[in-house]
Amino acid sequence: MAEPIIKIDLDKPPYENESIHNRWHPDIPMAAMVKPGDDFIVECHDWTGGQIHNNDDASDVRDVDLTQVHFLSGPVGVEGAEPGDLLVVDILDIGTFQESQWGFNGFFSKQNGGGFLTEHFPEAQKSVWDFNGMFTKSRHIPGVEFAGLIHPGLIGCLPSKEMLEEWNKREKALFDSAPERVPALATLPYADTAHMGKLSGEAKRRAAEEGARTVPPREHGGNCDIKDLSRGSKIYFPVYVKDGGLSVGDLHFSQGDGEITFCGAIEMAGWIHLRVELIKDGMSKYAIKNPIFKPSPMTPKYDDYLIFEGVSVDEQGKQHYLDVHVAYRQAVLNAIEYLKKFGYSGAQAYSLLGCAPVQGHISGVVDIPNACATLWLPTDIFEFDVKPNADGPKQHVKGNIDLPLAKDK
Ligand code: ZN
Repeated sequence: MAEPIIKIDLDKPPYENESIHNRWHPDIPMAAMVKPGDDFIVECHDWTGGQIHNNDDASDVRDVDLTQVHFLSGPVGVEGAEPGDLLVVDILDIGTFQESQWGFNGFFSKQNGGGFLTEHFPEAQKSVWDFNGMFTKSRHIPGVEFAGLIHPGLIGCLPSKEMLEEWNKREKALFDSAPERVPALATLPYADTAHMGKLSGEAKRRAAEEGARTVPPREHGGNCDIKDLSRGSKIYFPVYVKDGGLSVGDLHFSQGDGEITFCGAIEMAGWIHLRVELIKDGMSKYAIKNPIFKPSPMTPKYDDYLIFEGVSVDEQGKQHYLDVHVAYRQAVLNAIEYLKKFGYSGAQAYSLLGCAPVQGHISGVVDIPNACATLWLPTDIFEFDVKPNADGPKQHVKGNIDLPLAKDK
């Protein structure tokens, strides 16, 4: 098996590791170099760099420092890569560390991060998931077990200087349209907690002030949180700087479409085994603006679903025009209300929909005024029959446990 070209120490802060960075900037030096055709292993912290712990207290989620995220491993330079090329990345495998067989999911407090349903779940809560080979279950959400569709939430190449300037300009304009909003409309550069890999001194100070935050997905890919970009996928990334500069992190053991809980999927530390190739001048040859990818030949097989519909009429009954975001929220809320009939709390159901391999589909965007979105809930992840029948739902979930809140609130 290939050797790790980037190693981490889970007992040390990621700030002490020069092969880690938490902003996007073209000046970040390559942490390692490889050649086209090489395969190699990169070790990754969980996205928060160890801020969330395996316990029954969500105060760490409530108090998380979101200006620190995401801690990425890289950039890995590929010899011969030039702007305009496509960097072809095979995800050969992804795994966990022997000493870290667990992951976390949570929702941030509305005051510090928020999430898709922050108006319904304004307080920080979390669930902890134990890994058992390819399966996972949580002591905080009984009655379910499923196979991990393991993937990196975040992977992409360094932006060019021009691209970085464009990102910062357009995101600042959006932020400035409602600067007091909580949560904010966008995350702007923030130098105090920036970690710029090998950069130091004045060069680091300058880059930290303009380095783009890692939260949004952008043209280069980045934090796309696509569950199907899993081990076995082949991804074609646009290259914007010499050597490409591929960085990766935010590994997920599993995630539902939408990563609705924001903190986040089942988040984990681990390693990823990659292989790289180049397609010279591939961006113009194939008209590539954003990455494209082929899914894995191997994925957990769930082929029976309960599918929840939602349309673009919000919780207050207000009609929205073809708004897919509102429609998907209604589909998710409908699924949560359904699961509560089996004994789950709303928070447990919300967390489960963020973690399990649920599918989200944009089903209709033309039938004015309503968009239709659907949430596909795999029925085989449950240890009981979750389908409707003439006898009505049974309270399968016993023990009256709920997701932990922050203890010292
Ligand atoms: Zn994540």
